[in-house]
Amino acid sequence: MKQLIILFSFCTHLLCSQSIQDCKRRFTTYLNYKGNLNAFVKFEKSAIHIYNAAGKKEFSIYENELQNLAYFLQNSTFQEQVQFWESKKRGTSSYLPQETKLKQGTPKQGAETKLFQGFRIAIDPGHFATNLKEAAVEQKYLYFKAKKAGFPYDSVKIFESALSFNTALILKTMLEKEGAEVMLSRSQSNFTSFNCTYSQWISEHKNRVLDSLQKAGKLSPAKKASLLKAKPYDVFWGFFRDFDLQNRAEKINRFKPDISVIIHYNVDEKNAPWRDFTETNFTMAFIGGGFTVGNMLGTEMKTNFLRLLLSPQLDLSETLAAQTVQQFHRLLNIPIAKQKDAVYLMKSSMPSASRGVYCRNLLLCRQINSVLVYGEALYQDNSAEAAQLMKWESNYEGITTSERTLKTAEAYFEGLKAYVNEKK
Ligand SMILES: [Zn+2]
Repeated sequence: MKQLIILFSFCTHLLCSQSIQDCKRRFTTYLNYKGNLNAFVKFEKSAIHIYNAAGKKEFSIYENELQNLAYFLQNSTFQEQVQFWESKKRGTSSYLPQETKLKQGTPKQGAETKLFQGFRIAIDPGHFATNLKEAAVEQKYLYFKAKKAGFPYDSVKIFESALSFNTALILKTMLEKEGAEVMLSRSQSNFTSFNCTYSQWISEHKNRVLDSLQKAGKLSPAKKASLLKAKPYDVFWGFFRDFDLQNRAEKINRFKPDISVIIHYNVDEKNAPWRDFTETNFTMAFIGGGFTVGNMLGTEMKTNFLRLLLSPQLDLSETLAAQTVQQFHRLLNIPIAKQKDAVYLMKSSMPSASRGVYCRNLLLCRQINSVLVYGEALYQDNSAEAAQLMKWESNYEGITTSERTLKTAEAYFEGLKAYVNEKK
């Protein structure tokens, strides 16, 4: 087998300087959900040993490799990282360091320098449904008769995709004014990441996509046959949901961002099936981490795990997410969620040391190769929030919006500003 030669640069950036102890701390603080990974990763004074699910050692990483490896994992494609894992297992990988290169945005000096000059920022506005037909498939909407006295509308009708996209457009405008290069993972509020609506994807692209996935060996003939017969609702939950998320992550990674912002609006889970208001409201944000035994069986999870273990992305994401949650709390005046405030925080997240920031192994938190924040600013089903979110009577630079959505975009912007200023 041909020896895999990996070319990449030395990283002399302060943020990349790290030790086995740093990786161990990262493992304990962010990644090892309730000791689930104790058998997969073993730390020694100068080495990290990686084991497979059968208890067999796959490879070791030594302290003098850490800098280069962290740089490589942050600056390579997923396929190159998988190749690296395989070659490391065979003991055939080697590295040829090149000249110093920084990934982090590097603002130019001078009086006219804008804060985000040199930064590439990706924004993923969550979901896609902005009508009742598609929302019935995706299940990310509120639609019920408003029974509360004083509520300004007869009924509540809110599509999360419309809010997240509107927030993303405003945030993009704010960041571009400050010099950032910004990409959105989808181009319209009713579009999926494939630049068409879900209904269009079903009628115009589904058959062709399933065909080519089967030909590439990524979809079994049986699964393809069942998807061809399935209703749009079942195609979404059995296939499209993850397919779209995966595409968002791939688009974002191709853009090579310094920072990624994933925008969502939450609901009170205790208020299911959301036929009335809640008076509860909490703010929170997610970053990667929180891996379990089951997560360490497949190549995708393991490869992304290694990047999160060896690179400083989780530490930096915690800083960014902490700043973002503080701004949600300050500008939107919403209490910060404690772990006991939601079942998913208790059962599938690890609390970080920062208030309201939780490590959760969500597909985007794991697959996006950059510092990131996955924001859940507020509960849309809170009666006061719903009233404000439905009132699209404001304008920001030609973008029609609500005061509340504009405030949310401002909170993301202020969080990013605080993060960049702190890291300067
Ligand atoms: Zn969402």
